[in-house]
Amino acid sequence: MVVGDVTTAVDVLVLGAGPGGYVAAIRAAQLGRHVTLIDHGLPGGTCLHQGCIPLKALLSASERYQQTRSEELTSMGIYVEAVSFDWASMQAWKQGVVDRLAAGVRRLIAGNRVEYVHGTGWFINAQEVRVEGEHGSLRFKFEHCIIATGADAAPLSGLSFDGKHFHQESNCCPVLILQHCVLYRQDCVNWAFR
Ligand SMILES: Cc1cc2nc3c(=O)[nH]c(=O)nc-3n(C[C@H](O)[C@H](O)[C@H](O)COP(=O)(O)OP(=O)(O)OC[C@H]3O[C@@H](n4cnc5c(N)ncnc54)[C@H](O)[C@@H]3O)c2cc1C
Repeated sequence: MVVGDVTTAVDVLVLGAGPGGYVAAIRAAQLGRHVTLIDHGLPGGTCLHQGCIPLKALLSASERYQQTRSEELTSMGIYVEAVSFDWASMQAWKQGVVDRLAAGVRRLIAGNRVEYVHGTGWFINAQEVRVEGEHGSLRFKFEHCIIATGADAAPLSGLSFDGKHFHQESNCCPVLILQHCVLYRQDCVNWAFR
């Protein structure tokens, strides 16, 4: 690893370590390429840290809770006296699931000899990317680049995401219980909330 304005040459530079990026990086490394993977967040991206995994973990816990309150149980002769849930414990369990899977992703990245660089990357020309992170400023010259930086929700005109009244999907799932929720758009994420 070189710090400053010295340029490191890589075969494949992958920008973004979500499921799109880290899988592509591992495959390129398995095919014998020298691969550098860059992310300013945690390996695993939206899916592992804000999206699919935490959401499915919480849905699974809430489904089990719901089952214990079901009238169907009573009709089967099963009586559950008092069931309650503790939101903080549920969150801690969900985080444990995420952490375990995140450790697996980090092991896969390291085990396939993909160099992981933590920082924000941007193009300085058609062949080079600069990365700013805790290691300072790094510069990479690549033969091939895979852009896997994911997507952000577009705000509605006149309504910005304030984290209070208007939320993006990624900041409402793991941390908040919404009392009233209006879903805008039809996609896999919104369907999961229904
Ligand atoms: C609540 C929720 C539930 C979801 N549930 C499902 C589901 O059940 N099934 C399903 O198929 N999909 C689901 N999704 C969608 C899924 O999370 C995304 O499709 C998937 O994460 C996209 O992967 P990606 O690698 O393209 O991008 P991301 O996972 O978003 O990864 C992009 C990465 O790029 C990094 N990055 C961006 N810009 C830079 C930069 N300049 N420098 C360095 N790093 C950068 C980010 O930090 C991030 O880690 C869900 C999403 C949400 C929000």
